[in-house]
Amino acid sequence: MLRQYELVERVLAYDPDADEAILNRAYVYTVQKHGTQKRASGDPYFSHPVEVAGLMTELKLDQATVVTALLHDTVEDTLATVDEIERLFGADVARLVDGVTKLSKIETMSDNERAAENLRKFLLAMSEDLRVLLVKLADRLHNMRTLHFIKSEEKRRRIARETMDIYAPLAERVGMYEYMREMQLLAFEQLEPEAYATISGRLAAIRSEENGQVGAIALEIKQALAEAGLRVEVSGREKHPYSIWKKMAERHVSFEQITDIMAFRVLTENEDDCYKALGILHRTWQMIPGRFKDYVSTPKMNGYKSLHTSLIYNNAMRVEVQIKTRAMHETNEFGLAAHWSYKQGGVTPDGQVGWLRDLLEILEASNDPDELLENTKMAIYQDRIFAFTPKGALFQLPKGATPIDFAFAVHTNLGAQAVGAKINGRHVPLRTPLNNGDVVEIIKSRTSEPQLSWLAFAVTGKARASIRRFVRQKERAEVAAIGRKLYEEIVERLPGTVGKKALADAIKRLKMAGEEDLMFAVGSAKVDDRQVMEALMPGSAANLPDPDHWPKQKRAIAVRGLTPGMAFQLAACCHPVPGDRIVGLRRPGKGVEVHAIDCLNLANGIDADWIDLSWDARTDGAIGRLRAELYNRPGTLAEMAGIFAKNHANVVNLEMTQRENPFHTYEVDLEVRDLAHLTRIISALRASDAVAQAERI
Ligand code: MN
Repeated sequence: MLRQYELVERVLAYDPDADEAILNRAYVYTVQKHGTQKRASGDPYFSHPVEVAGLMTELKLDQATVVTALLHDTVEDTLATVDEIERLFGADVARLVDGVTKLSKIETMSDNERAAENLRKFLLAMSEDLRVLLVKLADRLHNMRTLHFIKSEEKRRRIARETMDIYAPLAERVGMYEYMREMQLLAFEQLEPEAYATISGRLAAIRSEENGQVGAIALEIKQALAEAGLRVEVSGREKHPYSIWKKMAERHVSFEQITDIMAFRVLTENEDDCYKALGILHRTWQMIPGRFKDYVSTPKMNGYKSLHTSLIYNNAMRVEVQIKTRAMHETNEFGLAAHWSYKQGGVTPDGQVGWLRDLLEILEASNDPDELLENTKMAIYQDRIFAFTPKGALFQLPKGATPIDFAFAVHTNLGAQAVGAKINGRHVPLRTPLNNGDVVEIIKSRTSEPQLSWLAFAVTGKARASIRRFVRQKERAEVAAIGRKLYEEIVERLPGTVGKKALADAIKRLKMAGEEDLMFAVGSAKVDDRQVMEALMPGSAANLPDPDHWPKQKRAIAVRGLTPGMAFQLAACCHPVPGDRIVGLRRPGKGVEVHAIDCLNLANGIDADWIDLSWDARTDGAIGRLRAELYNRPGTLAEMAGIFAKNHANVVNLEMTQRENPFHTYEVDLEVRDLAHLTRIISALRASDAVAQAERI
């Protein structure tokens, strides 16, 4: 373990202005706070933060980061508080420690792929300062190095899986390839112990067979370049077992088919030499077409620069070669962390923000270059929030999202049954916007249904589409309920009884998908009574027993005062019914329009001939229109339909014109015998406690 004075000396070596006293105080503080706590290895717990601080000094990170590394587990695991840390070490360190502590919370969460992707984003959204992420990555790296001390295999595998899914990709995306490779290798060993053992064994066998071949090839490369006057450093290595295994898996090949297990790195003095070296290598050995990549002129989004090529060495073996300058190499291995190191002069508070934004964009970016371009143009995290279920599952939502959006994101049924919500344990209205990191608990009720009014504050497409679908389904169910009432009335008129078989046959004859479909068709007047009767009992509509009891679709309407045979129609604006005083408007070349005497549209009839009309006794009905406001609760529409059925009024058309809490407004066209009939129905509606208001229109 790194001793106190060693750590301080390391920092002073690259930052002579570092505050020795604070470093010392932080070291002593972590030792005291962790006290007698032990690691799985049996070492005192404080050895862990000290090692993590050591990793930070390897990256030459600033003093605040080193101090944060020393303190990173104190708030989580000891009695230390952020306030105390702020008092002793300043606001900057306190904020960083708080950030690392928050990140630790996500380690207990779900491990499916999508969640892992969310986690990476969450990590970043929460890492307002990249140094938080760097400490977290070093923390994870040290935990992976000491993973084998943990006795429980299940726990080791869980941590390894998390490292593979979350931390290694994060390290890669910030360009910390050294961290990434080591994490992957250590995780691979836990996750695929057999594959790891096999590949390691074969590599060892090759190593002894070829006996120093890596070194020999490296020397040969160096000589070839030296002859051309280039001063370079060449190093070679075997690829590590994980990257070989990955290749085997990706290309579906066996170990023997993997020919490029050696990789060489050529470090040049300047950029021009990179291209010169490349030319020489391509002339000396055969290059493999399609494998050459120029990341010097076009660096990767995380800043990675290098020339990559693959050669066939001695007509037998593929080797990979990376060519880059020494400076590029340093940046490559530690990526964006290199920008933070003391010797780069650190980053100004202004620079931090813009630079972190770049980082977030890089991290957001996918492999698809077009998408990458799209993403880099957007302010990625400004428009997102991340919220948790009480069990710790994470959901990403657009800013402004409410518990309703959250509920539908978790599960459509949860959204459908939501009646209330708790955010961080407190009851809130469903329209409350969520904040980053909120824990959201949805209170549900089996009898609850999505409300149209939710559309006013639901922002996600999923929630909005689901709400609309539920409302549509509900409307359909309501119309079907009306249809069922009407259907029952139709059945009563039939001379015999209608069994299950007759109904099933009728459904087939009418080409309906099922019973519900038929009821909907009846309720929405897509089929008429006669069709239903004929389908249920062929021939039954032909000789109806009691025409008075069965209001026909086409009623006999007759008015007095017209020349016999003259065509007329009842006006659609006022829907006069027998009992209303009526007047006829006749225009040249057209039939007569029959209006109620108080119809406002008569004002437009100045150009027409007015004919005084009255109802003929033979008239057995007409269509009346009414408006009803129903209370918004289950069953009210069916109750209205029941009133129509009881009063033998045929619903011709029904339309919902307004849907607002606490009322739903319907306009209904009814076939009625006369004004008295219509008035009686309106009175019956008014008497019902399902109806708030009813009137003729
Ligand atoms: Mn730790």
